[in-house]
Amino acid sequence: MIIVLKPTATEEQKLHIIEKIESLGLRPHVSVGVNRTLIGVIGPEDAVRNVPLAAFPGVEIVVPILQPFKLVSRELKEEDTVINVGGVKIGGKKVVVGAGPCAVENREMLLETASLVSRCGASLLRGGAFKPRTSPYSFQGLGEEALKHLAEAREKTGLPVVTELMDPRDIPLIEKYADMAQIGMRNMSNFALLRELGGLNKPILLKRGNMATVKEFLMSAEYIVTNGNADVVLCERGIRTFETATRNTADLSAVPVIKQLSHLPVIVDPSHATGRRDLIEPLSRAAIAVGADGLLVEVHPDPETARSDGPQSLSPPQFELLMKNLAPVAESVGREL
Ligand code: PEP
Ligand code: MN
Repeated sequence: MIIVLKPTATEEQKLHIIEKIESLGLRPHVSVGVNRTLIGVIGPEDAVRNVPLAAFPGVEIVVPILQPFKLVSRELKEEDTVINVGGVKIGGKKVVVGAGPCAVENREMLLETASLVSRCGASLLRGGAFKPRTSPYSFQGLGEEALKHLAEAREKTGLPVVTELMDPRDIPLIEKYADMAQIGMRNMSNFALLRELGGLNKPILLKRGNMATVKEFLMSAEYIVTNGNADVVLCERGIRTFETATRNTADLSAVPVIKQLSHLPVIVDPSHATGRRDLIEPLSRAAIAVGADGLLVEVHPDPETARSDGPQSLSPPQFELLMKNLAPVAESVGREL
């Protein structure tokens, strides 16, 4: 439930309510908005059923949170959340573009790609060190060596780094080298891993599972937030349908749907959603138009030789053109690129 405080509520009254909630074994979550302060009551609500919280001094009204996800819900926090990733703000006016190779293949290709995407206006560098491959015989990523290259690329370009985390045992490595941990679609429902992320001192890029509903996606985000890490950015990356023309089906309606349900920023990955480089630009345009706060795009210096996801990777000139063509689209919907 949510306790809405009166605009005139005092600090003392607020603390009194918080103490009461804690004494019942529940967790208060204070959200200070522009117009009013809300206190979310997190935990089994049976404990408060017979407590007349509405009668406490300073309380305007007590309303139930109807959605099963609480902390990430728009009901609890009306304003959009802006998440700071190494100085880059996701969820504000700027449409943030993260770009880079599917996998870090070697130092040279990463540094070359990083400097190119930075020059073209990308704000984040992506690159996989631990790759979730369908086949155990495919390239699995360079591990810590890749993370060192990513950290060097950040030093050279200033771009914060986002990279996938699959195994909780690698959390210290992510803490050491990266600015944001990506949780891939295969791990969206790995609740043990999600719980561990609560203790990670970096923002999370949570990708939607390819079979997950929007509600399941938001419940996974709730796992991370309720375990102590509020900095979650959601990423729509396509879902599995009967359609085979594209690698996945980009569910662009999920963007405005999630924006209605949650205050968290939402970005779109047109690369994995389509699997086809010729569709990256149209999907990116559409994603910006429906309100995405950013894009995650795969770029490779020589896509023909890429060790993973070559067919969906843009070449450097294609990425440059993409950025040029997206700027007016962002402007037309009141955003900037
Ligand atoms: C990736 O970003 O390289 C990736 C593997 O993404 P997803 O988890 O969306 O398939
Ligand atoms: Mn990939």
